Amino acid sequence: PTATLTPTPTPPQPPIPTPEVDLTDRSLYAANLKPAFAGDVDLVPHAPHYFIQAELLPGPTPQVRGVERVRYVNQETTPLDAIYFRLYPNLPGYGGASQAGPVIVDNRFVSPTLEYADSALRVPLAAPLPPGAAADITLWFTATLPTSVTPGTAGSGLYGFFGGVYDLAGFYPTIPVYDDEGWNLEVAATFGDATFTDIAFHQVEFTLPGALQIVASGSVLEERPNSDGTTTWRLAAGPMRAFYLAASEHYRAISQEVNGATVNSWHLPGGEEGARTALSYATSSLATFEQLFGPYPYRELDVVAMPTTAFGMEYPGVIDIAQSFYGPNGGAFAISVVHEVAHQWWYNLVGNDQPDEPWLDESLCNYAVYLHYEAVDWPEMRDAMMNNIFWYRYNAARNLGIDRPVGGPVTGFDPANYINMVYSKGPLFLHAVRERMGDEAFFAALADYAATHRYGVAYPEDLMAAFRRHTTAPLDDLYTQWITGPP
Ligand SMILES: [Zn+2]
Repeated sequence: PTATLTPTPTPPQPPIPTPEVDLTDRSLYAANLKPAFAGDVDLVPHAPHYFIQAELLPGPTPQVRGVERVRYVNQETTPLDAIYFRLYPNLPGYGGASQAGPVIVDNRFVSPTLEYADSALRVPLAAPLPPGAAADITLWFTATLPTSVTPGTAGSGLYGFFGGVYDLAGFYPTIPVYDDEGWNLEVAATFGDATFTDIAFHQVEFTLPGALQIVASGSVLEERPNSDGTTTWRLAAGPMRAFYLAASEHYRAISQEVNGATVNSWHLPGGEEGARTALSYATSSLATFEQLFGPYPYRELDVVAMPTTAFGMEYPGVIDIAQSFYGPNGGAFAISVVHEVAHQWWYNLVGNDQPDEPWLDESLCNYAVYLHYEAVDWPEMRDAMMNNIFWYRYNAARNLGIDRPVGGPVTGFDPANYINMVYSKGPLFLHAVRERMGDEAFFAALADYAATHRYGVAYPEDLMAAFRRHTTAPLDDLYTQWITGPP
């Protein structure tokens, strides 16, 4: 046979050089944490550590272009032959696009493949990564933002450029949780939340036009004007479950301190009165939840008006609230702000599988609204939550014959019934557990659950185990009745 000379493939040329950065150094996250919690960086030394360098390119089709370098330690008990990254903008609910590559793992170019409707990038490893070992991954990415609402998506404001606001939820390739099910890679529904991630560290250098004000997870380390009219913001966000960023020329903030954290309430033109209202809801509920669920460790919490069709959306250190609430007709303004503040515990500090068991954070957050009004002694709002939100919607579903168990994945719900079950029936389960256990044991169990799984990931059985640590009363019947349904 004739010897075939295989041409040496030319490695792809990265558009931006590989960033030089020491991802074993977590010292800069002290800037993101209250002094008393600066040591928390050492509680999760093996959390994924991202360095993200990106630029927003405005225009008729706005894009974010960048590079990220990630130190990923295998925290599982089995070797991993690949590492996955979620490309959230490719999910149907996001209505955008994300492209990633080339990819370098430990100084070698690798050939990644797309799976799960292009929402998951499989990055193969040259050799399986043993438990405890670290991989060093660099990848280049381009995320394209929608500027109008695509039919069949979640609506405006989850991700895109709408009403003068850039909403960059999930713009960078993100490593999902690896657990008993393996990698969590499902194509999420167009309603409900799509992310399930480990707590992580994010150092970010984000460049955008100088006129834009950013609102982001974590703390700003530096704001550096460039000669071309852009500004580069350096930020540190960690330990946090994601890095989120929004930007607009129109954002202005008012602020207030709560227990060593600065709460900033960002508004768009005409929204200053609404921002004052949002600030009062956020500061009072932050104080309540620190009492009930343990300390908020970060120096900042941003509440930001967003032209979204949802009532609100939670991110680590940032909550988006529908801009429509900032006008004269506040509607569910208070409930939305308090609910999203509760997510700083149930979603960020204690993570859960949002696509597979959405009730674990959502039911807790909506019940937390009830707990807040109880704590601040506002009986009208407390009773409105119990009667008009929880019982009214649950009974409406029963009368329509669409009652079903609270548990299970978002994709298993009829979108029209999802709110009834997860936001109304779920809180009634928690209330039933509380009545069975008594207040003292119930509140001790919630604080225990928050402390045990702080910076970790929890599953429904972990919440039930926390309740059982504080009571000898049987709870299985309630769990079956409300959450799983009869076997
Ligand atoms: Zn929620």
